[in-house]
Amino acid sequence: MKLNTIAKLCCPFDKQDLQLKTLAQDLDQNVIEGILSCKTCLRNYPIIYGVPIMAPDEYRQIALEQPR
Ligand SMILES: [Zn+2]
Repeated sequence: MKLNTIAKLCCPFDKQDLQLKTLAQDLDQNVIEGILSCKTCLRNYPIIYGVPIMAPDEYRQIALEQPR
């Protein structure tokens, strides 16, 4: 996922801006793994294989979001 695409994302719950912590990126500056975090509701949204996981709480699988 490209950095300028990520910059447009906001928290699905309160529409606040998200802070990105990049854990891995490729040569084109695409974020492969990272954490998006919302300072308002303190939710974290992982980016896994370039895809941000922003499912509502009831669909989240917390075990998959933990560091390996
Ligand atoms: Zn939020």
